[in-house]
Amino acid sequence: MVVSSRGAARLKAGHVWVYRSDILSAADVGPGALVPVRDERGRVLGTALYSSSSQIAIRMISRRPVTDFLALLRERIAAAIAYRQRVVRDSDAWRVVFSEGDGLPGLIVDRYHDVLSLQILTQAMDAEPVRTIVMEELRERLQPAAMVERVDARVRDLEQLPQRPSGLIYGEKPNTVFTMNGLRFHFDALEGQKTGAFLDQRENYAAAAQYAHGEALDVFCYQGGFALHLAKKAARVTAVDSSRPALEVADKNGLLNQLDVEWIEANAFDLLRDYAAAGRQYDTIVLDPPAFAKSRKNLETALRGYKELNLRALKMLRPGGILVTCSCSYHVGPAEFAQVVAEAAADTHRGLRLIESRGQARDHPILLTVPETSYLKCLVLSVTD
Ligand code: SAH
Repeated sequence: MVVSSRGAARLKAGHVWVYRSDILSAADVGPGALVPVRDERGRVLGTALYSSSSQIAIRMISRRPVTDFLALLRERIAAAIAYRQRVVRDSDAWRVVFSEGDGLPGLIVDRYHDVLSLQILTQAMDAEPVRTIVMEELRERLQPAAMVERVDARVRDLEQLPQRPSGLIYGEKPNTVFTMNGLRFHFDALEGQKTGAFLDQRENYAAAAQYAHGEALDVFCYQGGFALHLAKKAARVTAVDSSRPALEVADKNGLLNQLDVEWIEANAFDLLRDYAAAGRQYDTIVLDPPAFAKSRKNLETALRGYKELNLRALKMLRPGGILVTCSCSYHVGPAEFAQVVAEAAADTHRGLRLIESRGQARDHPILLTVPETSYLKCLVLSVTD
């Protein structure tokens, strides 16, 4: 497989993707193949996995020649697990494999106590021998009671893979209770959004709990990740989400931990407007909305959305109050996000002190040369006046 000089420059700078427009020749290469990658002069740049349909035509797996991909797969899974054993604390729920972040592009595996949830996003990772090894390694090393596959139908369409249902691929019972920072959470692998819970916020939950006090509000609470952490420290916690099924699990999570939270089903924007108009005041507010910018195209709208939310929250915070504000939109960079929050502070005439600038939990490893692996921003701020 030969890549253009632009593609080669990208790889030399440490990125792992080459777009189809930068592929000069892909003669006789089948979907999902393991391919040696060369530049126009024939110099070897490494080894990649090929997709015959995605705009991202190749994803590098090594800068060296690779002959036995299945052996490399075993090694990488073992290394991914060993890394988590070093960095994950106080939890039996963590991302086991984070795609490019673990040198395994197209594979995501999450662990919730004794249940594993797999997502396969590329032709190469969907190949039967690859699936077999992945399952074997995970079973051997983590001894799960059950494994489920979560299928994203759109991704399978894009990769021109035959559709298959989400569901159990090993074991019997895909529901469990996992522990995080001393709190317990219900997990049902076949329900819920995304992979079922937000593991990428685990370390930010602990940070939020450290600063939480007084009356607290968790906006976009889902199944209560932040709210329950706040409830360990705050006097009173209110949490809002528009999803009733999410709130039903949140309520069960509250009971499981014997923590009292008022769960409210509402549109967050309306609720913040009404509460602000009614003169409500808080000491701690968490904002963790869904990704507003799904692509570069709606960046402007997304930035307006973030500003609006932060404005409304700032109006309701007492002096000395804590704002934990998050964005999981990759397309909104850290500097842009901080700028939006700064503008909201200026518009509301509030002073903000940055206590911590945080990102995704360490089990979602970031590659410095692959900016797409870094997506979560979480600022912990205090209102100075
Ligand atoms: N903070 C959560 C994750 C939030 S995910 C955690 O740590 O687990 C985003 C959530 O926003 C989802 O639960 C979704 O149901 C909710 N949501 C999306 N749009 C909303 C809106 N307009 N008003 C309220 N909730 C909304």
